[in-house]
Amino acid sequence: MPEDFVSGVRAIVGEKNVLSDAREAEPYFTDWRRQYRAAALCVARPGNTAEVASLVRLCVAADVAIVPQGGNTGLCGGSVPTGTRREIVLSLSRLNRIRSLDPLNDTISVEAGCVLADVQRAAAQADRLFALSLAAEGSCQIGGNLSTNAGGVNVLRYGNAREQVLGLEAVLPDGRVWDGMRALRKDNTGYDLKQLFIGAEGTLGIITAAVLRLHPRPSAAATAWVALDEPQRAVDLLAHLRHACGERLSAFELLSRSCVDAVLAHRRELRDPDPARAAWYVLVQLDDFGTHSQLEDLLQGAIGEACERRIASGAVMAKNESEAKALWSIRESVPEAQFANVKHDISVAISKVPELIERAAAALAASFPGAPIYCFGHVGDGNLHFNVGDASLLARRAEVGRIVYAAVAALGGSISAEHGLGQLKREEITRHKDPLELELMRALKRALDPRGLMNPGKVI
Ligand SMILES: Cc1cc2nc3c(=O)[nH]c(=O)nc-3n(C[C@H](O)[C@H](O)[C@H](O)COP(=O)(O)OP(=O)(O)OC[C@H]3O[C@@H](n4cnc5c(N)ncnc54)[C@H](O)[C@@H]3O)c2cc1C
Repeated sequence: MPEDFVSGVRAIVGEKNVLSDAREAEPYFTDWRRQYRAAALCVARPGNTAEVASLVRLCVAADVAIVPQGGNTGLCGGSVPTGTRREIVLSLSRLNRIRSLDPLNDTISVEAGCVLADVQRAAAQADRLFALSLAAEGSCQIGGNLSTNAGGVNVLRYGNAREQVLGLEAVLPDGRVWDGMRALRKDNTGYDLKQLFIGAEGTLGIITAAVLRLHPRPSAAATAWVALDEPQRAVDLLAHLRHACGERLSAFELLSRSCVDAVLAHRRELRDPDPARAAWYVLVQLDDFGTHSQLEDLLQGAIGEACERRIASGAVMAKNESEAKALWSIRESVPEAQFANVKHDISVAISKVPELIERAAAALAASFPGAPIYCFGHVGDGNLHFNVGDASLLARRAEVGRIVYAAVAALGGSISAEHGLGQLKREEITRHKDPLELELMRALKRALDPRGLMNPGKVI
């Protein structure tokens, strides 16, 4: 049977687009963090929506489950098989065409396998901005970004992935194609079905294309690295800069000194922007349409005032693009610089971020004295990556998680701010989400995927 089935897959996508050899398929079977690994019958790489639909129908007939996979940069084990039943990995990477760009409607229509950086580039060539931006943008794909409702560094100004979408095309779990590729900003004709697939992590269907929102492309940017004594000052600085700079504030990223030390040990070519070693930093960026010097003056003035008011203890302004890139390299290297430890992607109201850090750190110090904490993230969205210890603590991941999540729950927060649930938090979420919400989620899953073939073992 498996051989017959794989022959059927070959007949749909062509011999060279099926990987069944263990060595070739291995990268598709292991997640980015190398925490999850399981084999599937094969990896299928369809080239268009019709082939995706045919594959789904073949899987339905053979009762084989489907794991959609984009760039495989997800951090919750959602994009790899579970190994608990017969599955295929369905890689979207060949659906990588930009279908069209409408400069007057400020929209771009792309296939799901387009790499995020390629969509940003296509928008820039038309003098537009596609606002989603994250450190994995060189390899993550739009389909994966939408399926995880990715956040990243520009949420503060432009919103998360969900907010970039006007229309969607998806292959349903029974193989039918839903064409919702509408480029409308207003469409109140009943339930907004596209939102079901966004953030569903491939459990309700396969996203094959999307109509995305574009924005005017700012012509100037100003970047600063600001030193702070404690997290409360980051929240104060955010309020101050929003008041002083308004909508121009597009990124506001927090880093603990431990994160900077980890990056400098990992990437020795990077320079320490603050040899005086403050306890905390924020990386701030303004974007606007004037000249660079106007924007720089605005940011410098606002940060100067923050220093006078003792909100900030010092700052370094990037003098040119390459200095700004060097500062961003520090921020973007944090995930790989503390690769193996216990990770949490959590959110609370922005005003509660300092209390969250304080509560979680105090509780951890009591149970795991001396375990280092790497705290960084999109503090402008109330979203922290709160990572603990080293590889030796991974075996006690659940205990560490309980402590951090208790602090999150006490402050009315979320145990997954932007990475999703995948396999990693599938159990944990049942302890945090309202039973009624879980019941509604299960009802939706049953309605769309009664046979449970779409990405089983993930989310719910
Ligand atoms: C260095 C690094 C930095 C990161 N920074 C951020 C960040 O700042 N913000 C953030 O939100 N995330 C971040 N991530 C996480 C990750 O990049 C995002 O979750 C991203 O959106 C995943 O895209 P992908 O194409 O790699 O998806 P994958 O990992 O391939 O898949 C993710 C999930 O989506 C499903 N899926 C993929 N494609 C489709 C499709 N076409 N249809 C249906 N389901 C699909 C998969 O089954 C899986 O459940 C980071 C990851 C790394 C490695």
